[in-house]
Amino acid sequence: MVEKRDIYLDNSATTRCFPEAAALMNELFLEDYGNPSAMHHRGVTAERRISQARKTLAGILKVKEKNICFTSCGTESDNLAIIGAAMAMQRKGKHLITTQIEHPAVLEAMKYLESQGFEVTRLGVDNDGLVSPEEAAAAVRPDTILVSVMHTNNIIGAVEPVEEIGRAVKAANPGLLFHVDAVQGFGKAQIYPKRMNIDLLSVSGHKIHGPKGTGFLYIADGVRLVPLMHGGGQQGGLRSGTENVPGIAGMALAAQMLYKDLDADREKLFAMKNRLIERLSTVPDIVFNGRTDETAAPHILSVRVRGVRAEVLLHALEDRGIYVSAGSACSSNHPRPSETLMAIGVPQKEMENSIRVSLSVMNTMEEMDAAADAIAELVPFLRRFVRK
Ligand code: PLP
Repeated sequence: MVEKRDIYLDNSATTRCFPEAAALMNELFLEDYGNPSAMHHRGVTAERRISQARKTLAGILKVKEKNICFTSCGTESDNLAIIGAAMAMQRKGKHLITTQIEHPAVLEAMKYLESQGFEVTRLGVDNDGLVSPEEAAAAVRPDTILVSVMHTNNIIGAVEPVEEIGRAVKAANPGLLFHVDAVQGFGKAQIYPKRMNIDLLSVSGHKIHGPKGTGFLYIADGVRLVPLMHGGGQQGGLRSGTENVPGIAGMALAAQMLYKDLDADREKLFAMKNRLIERLSTVPDIVFNGRTDETAAPHILSVRVRGVRAEVLLHALEDRGIYVSAGSACSSNHPRPSETLMAIGVPQKEMENSIRVSLSVMNTMEEMDAAADAIAELVPFLRRFVRK
């Protein structure tokens, strides 16, 4: 029997772990399994693994090791940044600014803060999903304590002008903090928080070929956060709980591998994405949400297939071993209209028509051709079943 090989194009949902990271984690589960807080040799060895990971990640961001706080996922990093900062700064003011296209990890944290008496301004975006630095600055008030804007949008791959936004909002109020959710941007772009006016930066391990259940938050010098977890006082009391040593080491190794050849990897991703764009452009009534040039993310393509429900196409592709996601079901099993697609002005009647194809360095050009062929073949067939 011929082995059927999956074509996995849902890398913005999660990635396959690099085998090197999995092997390292296996070693730490079985050999260096000590508790990093323990005073004996096994503890010291585990602690050394964490220090090494911190050094690797700090080196990539060009920041100090003490600025890295390990968490359990991107969601925790976002919550710690936003709720932790709001709680620590509430005497200075209770106004926060974010955008309409953030991941629920940010939007729901903001909603929670509203329920606690904070006020939130949500900035709109243009048709490409981009936030205007001028509009962001205009929304800043004397009581604004935090601005949160994502680096790369998870639905359409818009890359926000975070450096300009950071500069503009800080010029308007130097006392506020600037948080960037870089869950989709880290590992795909060079990000230097100090140069980019970023005080808080969220990252997730499983989006970068590291393990699930890992993440970290960069916290600039002098920024005070109220912890979300209370307990044994690990990580300077900011994030109690025994550190996930294998996960932390695996995440850091994956990041190191990605940043070793970042330019070449970006080129490879753009080449694959461009091939998909070129091939799919010939299918009637297909449009791409957001920009398709190289100012967008190299790995995310949002494809609106008029007349075909995304879910139907997703399952038809799945039958052929090709995995994508529905652009409107970004975060759970309960699809809800995508805030991003609404914000960029996708017509209501086309809201259910977008699939997201997201690539990784593990994909190949042959897979792009196979996926494009399958979509081109399936779409006319599926359109015949549209209710008129
Ligand atoms: N932020 C963005 C932009 C994301 O795409 C995701 C996950 O899809 C998250 C945050 C949440 O990350 P995690 O799944 O690690 O909690």
